Amino acid sequence: MSDGEGVSGLPVTELNGVGPQLALKLERLQIRTLQDLLFHLPLRYQDRTRITPIGSLRYGQDAVVEGHVSSVNIVMGRRRSLLCRIQDGSGTVTLRFFHFSAAQKQSLTEGTLIRCYGEVRRGSSGLELYHPEYKRVDEQSTEQVEQYLTPVYATTEGLNQVRLRNLCEQAITLLQRCGGLQEWLPESLRNKYHLMELEEAVTLLHRPPPDTPVQQLLEGQHPAQLRLVMEELLAHQLSLLELRQKVKMTQAPALISRGDLQQRFKQNLPYALTSAQQRVAEEVDRDVSQPHPMLRLVQGDVGSGKTVVAALAALRAIENNMQVAMMAPTEILAEQHLRNFSEWFEALGLNVAWLVGKLGVRQRKEQLEAIASGSAALVVGTHALFQQDVEFNRLALVIIDEQHRFGVHQRLALKEKGGHDGSQPHQLIMTATPIPRTLAMSAYADLDCSIIDELPPGRTPVETVVIPDDRRHEVIGRVRNGCAEGRQAYWVCTLIEESEALECQAAEATVEELKAALPELNIGLVHGRMKSAEKAQVMDAFKRGDLQLLVATTVIEVGVDVPNASLMIIENPERLGLAQLHQLRGRVGRGATDSYCVLLYHSPLSQLGRERLAIMRESSDGFVIAEKDLELRGPGELLGTRQTGLMQFRIADLQRDAHLLDVVQEAAHSLLQAGEGEAIKAIILRWMGERDHYAQV
Ligand code: ADP
Ligand code: MG
Repeated sequence: MSDGEGVSGLPVTELNGVGPQLALKLERLQIRTLQDLLFHLPLRYQDRTRITPIGSLRYGQDAVVEGHVSSVNIVMGRRRSLLCRIQDGSGTVTLRFFHFSAAQKQSLTEGTLIRCYGEVRRGSSGLELYHPEYKRVDEQSTEQVEQYLTPVYATTEGLNQVRLRNLCEQAITLLQRCGGLQEWLPESLRNKYHLMELEEAVTLLHRPPPDTPVQQLLEGQHPAQLRLVMEELLAHQLSLLELRQKVKMTQAPALISRGDLQQRFKQNLPYALTSAQQRVAEEVDRDVSQPHPMLRLVQGDVGSGKTVVAALAALRAIENNMQVAMMAPTEILAEQHLRNFSEWFEALGLNVAWLVGKLGVRQRKEQLEAIASGSAALVVGTHALFQQDVEFNRLALVIIDEQHRFGVHQRLALKEKGGHDGSQPHQLIMTATPIPRTLAMSAYADLDCSIIDELPPGRTPVETVVIPDDRRHEVIGRVRNGCAEGRQAYWVCTLIEESEALECQAAEATVEELKAALPELNIGLVHGRMKSAEKAQVMDAFKRGDLQLLVATTVIEVGVDVPNASLMIIENPERLGLAQLHQLRGRVGRGATDSYCVLLYHSPLSQLGRERLAIMRESSDGFVIAEKDLELRGPGELLGTRQTGLMQFRIADLQRDAHLLDVVQEAAHSLLQAGEGEAIKAIILRWMGERDHYAQV
C-alpha cells in the first residue's frame, strides 16, 4: 500500500457492495484504489438541492419536482408510452416513459406522492419530463432534498450513475472519517500560489455545496479544480525533471575538441554558418564536452539549416574516435541524410554506414559488421537502428531528426545501445516542427532547448494563395507560365482518408491529367510506394532540371532540396496539419526567385478549415503557425499520435490550463531545490501511478 496511512491506498473492494465483478468494471475506469476513486472527478453536476414548483417549470430546465399522481395511462402514439400526470397545487406536468413495466404502472397509483428529476421538454401534452428518475415519497416523513449538487461521473457499461455515485459517496465519507489523502504540497507553496488543501478540494468537487458557482466548475476554473490540475501538472513536470536528473547523473564520454575535422568540414562548405547555427553548435559542443549525457533539443524552422549543426556535432564525436548514430523517421529522409553526410564525410575520409528496414540480407550483414567493428564512424538509418541485433562499437552520440515522430521508447532504446560500463551516449534531438513553448515545457521538460532562429541569407518569403479547386484550370495555367519562364514546380497530392495506397492512386491520376493539359512539359511522379531506386532517379532528374514539374505525394515533405523549384501547388491542403503544410511549403523559396505556394482546396471549406488556411497565407513563421495549430487542433495533432500518450492527463487540459505552466515549472524547481524528495516521489506516484514513468516520458 503506497500511502501507508488513511484510506487512499485501500482497494475499492473495501467499499460496501464492491465484489470482484464490480471491481473489474471499475478497473475499466482505471479505478483500483479509493484514491483512484476520489480522483475520478465528476464531469458535470445536477442541481437537486431544491424542489421547483411545477407551475414555474421552464422548458429546457433540469429540475426536481414533487407532486401527487393524478392519472396514469398507456397511450399508443408513434411510440407506445406510459404517461403519468402529477400535480402539486401550482400546476400539472406529465412524466413520459417509453420503456416501462406493468409493475411500474401498478405502483404509480393515483394519489401517490412522488419526487422526480429530469429535463423539462415540450411534449404533446404540454411540458413533460421524459424518463425522469423518480421515487415514491412518504407523506409522513419530511424527505430531504439533496444537500449538495449531484455529481455526474464518467462511467462504463454495467455501472450506472447511481451506483458509482454511491461508491464515491462512501469514499468521501471514509476520507472524512479517517483522512488519508496525504497533502504533499508544502504549506509555503500552497500559500504562495493560493492553493486549496487537497482533501478540501477533492471533497468539494464530489460534494459541491448548493451555492457553488456551477459555471465555474463546468469551465474547470474553480479553485478546487485548479488545485488538482496544478498538482497533476506538477507530477508530470517533476517526473520529467527527475528523469533528466537521473540521466545527468550517469556518465558519458566527454567529447572535447581534438583534430581538425570540424574545421575542415566548415571550410568545405560552400557557405558560412549563420550566427544562429554557430551559436547552437557551440551550445552543443559545450554540452558534449561534459562527462554527462547531453539532452538537447534543437528547434529550427524548416530550412534553417539544422543538418549542418548535426554534422558538426557528429564530427566532434568522431574527432574523439567515437561513433555516431543518426536516426530519421522515414526511409526517404534517412536516404537524404545518407547522401548529404556521405558527400560531406567521405571528403574527410570517414565511412558512413546505412541501416533501414528494406536492406537485403547480405547488405544488412555488411552494414552491421561495419557498425560493430567500428569502421563506420557514422550510421544513418531509421528505427531499424535500435533493433536487437545492432551492435555499436563505441557509440557516443545519438542524433534524432524529427523527434516528434518517434515514441520516446525508441529514443531510450537507442540510448541503451551505448550503455556499456555505465556510460550513456549524448543525445541531440532535432525537430523541424517548431514546438510552442507551452507544449515544449510540458512535453520536453527533460531536454535543454536551442533554437536556430535565423534562416540562411538569400531566402525569399513564399507568397501563399488560397484557391478553390473549381479554379483548377487557372492554376494549371499558372504552372504552364511559370515553367515557361524556366521555373520548376511541385504538385502535391495529399493523403486520402489516411490511405497511402489511395494517395498514390490520386497522384498517378493527377500525373495523367497534367500530362494531357501540359504536353509541353516534362512531368515526373514520385510517391511512397515506388522502389527507392526509382524514387531517387526521379528526384535526381528533377534536381538536374530534366523534369520541370514533379507530381508527388506528401513523401516530399521532408527531404528534397531543389533551389530552382519556386512554385508549389498543394491539393486539398485542408487535409493536412498546419505544421505539415509549413514543412511542404519550405521546399520552395530556397532560391533567389520569388516563390509561390497555391493551396488548392476542395470547397466548401468549414469555418475551421478557412481559418487554418488563412493562417498559412498570413504567416511564414513556423513558430506562429505551430502555436495556432495547437490552439485549433490540440497537442495530439501537433506532436503526432505516437506521442499523445504523453499528453494523457486525468484532470489537466494543456490548452485550458496553459496559463498555469509557468507556475508549475517554478513550483517544480522549488520542490527540487528544497530537497522534497519524499513529496516528489509521492506526487509522481499518485498521478502517474506505478507504471514506469521513465518509459512514458
Ligand atoms: P532544416 O533545418 O530544414 O533541416 P537543412 O539542414 O535541410 O534545413 O538546410 C536547408 C538548406 O539550407 C540546405 O540546402 C542547406 O544546404 C542550406 N544551408 C544550411 N545552412 C546554410 C547557410 N549557413 N547558408 C546557406 N545555406 C545554408
Ligand atoms: Mg531537416
